[in-house]
Amino acid sequence: MAIAGPHEPDRAGLTRLEEVGDWRWQLRHAVRTAAELARVFALSPEERAGALVAERSGFPILLTPHVISLADPRDPNCPIRRQFVPDLRETVAVRGDLRDPLGEEEHEVAPGLVRRYPDRALLLMTDRCASYCRFCTRSRWVARGGGSRSRERLGPALAYLRAHPEVKEVILSGGDPLVMSTERLVGVVALVRDVPSVETIRLATRVLSLLPQRVTEDLVRALQPHHPIWVMTHFNHPAELGPLAEAACRRLADGGFPMMNQTVLLRGINDREEVLTALFRRLIRERVRPYYLLQMDPVRGTGHLRTPVETGCRLLGELQGRLSGIAIPRFVVDTPGGHGKVPVAPDYVLSAGEGVTRFLAPDGVGVDYIDPVDPE
Ligand code: SF4
Repeated sequence: MAIAGPHEPDRAGLTRLEEVGDWRWQLRHAVRTAAELARVFALSPEERAGALVAERSGFPILLTPHVISLADPRDPNCPIRRQFVPDLRETVAVRGDLRDPLGEEEHEVAPGLVRRYPDRALLLMTDRCASYCRFCTRSRWVARGGGSRSRERLGPALAYLRAHPEVKEVILSGGDPLVMSTERLVGVVALVRDVPSVETIRLATRVLSLLPQRVTEDLVRALQPHHPIWVMTHFNHPAELGPLAEAACRRLADGGFPMMNQTVLLRGINDREEVLTALFRRLIRERVRPYYLLQMDPVRGTGHLRTPVETGCRLLGELQGRLSGIAIPRFVVDTPGGHGKVPVAPDYVLSAGEGVTRFLAPDGVGVDYIDPVDPE
């Protein structure tokens, strides 16, 4: 990525500091205002206006130096910039927009504990993240001043889990739980692990792409006693998987943490077969299983970033047969209103009847599968 022109001194400075900076340094030096954004990027008029709106009243701006180092300072269409730099189109309402697309408020069973499925619950631990994604499903709540939940504030959620042993899995999310201090994070993990009926903990985090410096050996060691912990990563574009992110993935994989990735399908960012192929190949190389390709939730102000459902289906069809099965995620739509996720797949069945099903094979050939004759 070329770095030249009036922004060169700032960016070079950020890059040098990033090499020695730890994760707290990254957060302390994050860009938070329209003026700071204009110092690191040559902003388009839409970005400049969007940043001013975000600064005054919208979803706040936050980009770590690490994220800035991944972006192209001159290109407003850079896939990193489009995810993190505000755009004036965020002020435009479109059909289907919702404030709380997954109905999480309606499904909140205790403060910060959301239950939409019989055996799982989601614990929202903090409203802070390493950087703020413009398409965030929880933009109504993230970065709105709630901060991290203390042990005391988590009391009712933990009491609910103890009273409902059918909940076997707890997803720790936010915001991003990994921006909490190690002591605080591990303290909450230990409290959840203490609930006898909770078998599995999932840690949902985007720090591997936005703040990979956070995944220190100390953090890995502190979490290991609380296994099984699955780490749910969030990478949307291969440009997010630089050397620091790869090192963070390796540290977690070596520490025994199974890793699954969720990718949000985003218009003009990753809605091309070659981009997804590159991303999913890189992920499996780092021992991260592509788990979901998510149709973007219809969150208010994100219409310009959403694709039609048909796009995801078509892309999945293009990946099928070209890419190893372990690299292909499920394409899912989280149905608006909190009714749950549904997998969507291209239809490979051409015809069915009288014990014969005709499939469209990945090589384009129609192939019959003949059912066995009932031996009775
Ligand atoms: S890291 Fe996750 S919770 Fe935070 S802004 Fe991005 S999508 Fe939202």
